[in-house]
Amino acid sequence: MDMQFEKIFKRGDRNPAIIAGPCSAETEEQVLATAHALKGQNIDLFRSGIWKPRTRPNTFEGVGKPGLVWLRKVKEETGLKVTTEVANKEHVYESLKYGVDVLWIGARTTVNPFAVQDIADALEGVDIPVMIKNPINPDLNLWIGAIERIYNIGIRKIAAIHRGFSSFGDSHYRNIPLWQIPIELKRRFPDLEIICDNSHICGRRDILQEVAQQAMNLSFDGLMTEVHPNPDEAWSDAKQQLTPPNFKKLVDELIIREGASVEVQDSLAELRLQIDQVDNDLLDILSKRMGVAKAIGQYKKENNVPILQPARWSKILDKSAKKGEGKGLSEDFIVQLFRAIHQESINQQNEVMNS
Ligand code: PEP
Ligand code: MN
Repeated sequence: MDMQFEKIFKRGDRNPAIIAGPCSAETEEQVLATAHALKGQNIDLFRSGIWKPRTRPNTFEGVGKPGLVWLRKVKEETGLKVTTEVANKEHVYESLKYGVDVLWIGARTTVNPFAVQDIADALEGVDIPVMIKNPINPDLNLWIGAIERIYNIGIRKIAAIHRGFSSFGDSHYRNIPLWQIPIELKRRFPDLEIICDNSHICGRRDILQEVAQQAMNLSFDGLMTEVHPNPDEAWSDAKQQLTPPNFKKLVDELIIREGASVEVQDSLAELRLQIDQVDNDLLDILSKRMGVAKAIGQYKKENNVPILQPARWSKILDKSAKKGEGKGLSEDFIVQLFRAIHQESINQQNEVMNS
């Protein structure tokens, strides 16, 4: 579906939109203290979870409605715009009643088309920006589907929030970023703002800066980071929240690269031309390799030999990984590349066998 979005955040090219605030609203004092500290840091939007989707029951599930009164106070006292997570119709109606400026749909809601549609129905005829987090599983279409449901009821101010993807087992990240997914989203919808939620990607403080920087390097449009006056005592996500001064430091240290000058553009164009040529050569070589694979397939067919010979395949993989290393290519890359090539060879040989 073709979609044209309007910007939620009016920013210059060199200014990422900054969304910050606590994971959860806990008390009026905590919410207001965070908001006043962040007001001085020129943020674009104050976040705070009022209804918290928690993985396990019997943990803090949000303060509910009283939190909306505190958010309204944030607006009155600081002039900051506020955003909160909505997961059902009731949340939408309550948020609208209390003047929440922007809504966001959480990762656990984006996975469920019924829930997203319910939220969309509740927003019929309402002009409010909506930010949509990626689903917890790495499914780009599910993410786009949620965006379409909100778009279809007439909302144009939509942004996507990249918060990483759930995986089994220990990982460096709480939610692995799989950057190629938001990059593909941006490729398909160039005018859709994409915000990086480094807090939920990292799950820990020590790598928040590098993930935020990576998002800036990839031309993301903004950042959503959890900030708490006393992170270690936070009622949710204590390990990943920053104090206001540490958050200021993170933003101050971000390197935002300027748009390229004409000379730089020219040199880039030249280099890109070289890349295009190499890519063409790669395609020629791959096509040649598949031609040989097909000939082998034909020979195997005539001599009644099965397609897959695991020992031979293992040898190819080993040899290529070693050779690749000598050429500055990582083992991981070579293994992935050769697996894909091998799979395509098998597919092509299958076609020959079955013809
Ligand atoms: C949050 O932003 O506090 C939150 C619950 O995020 P997510 O939906 O990304 O898990
Ligand atoms: Mn959180």
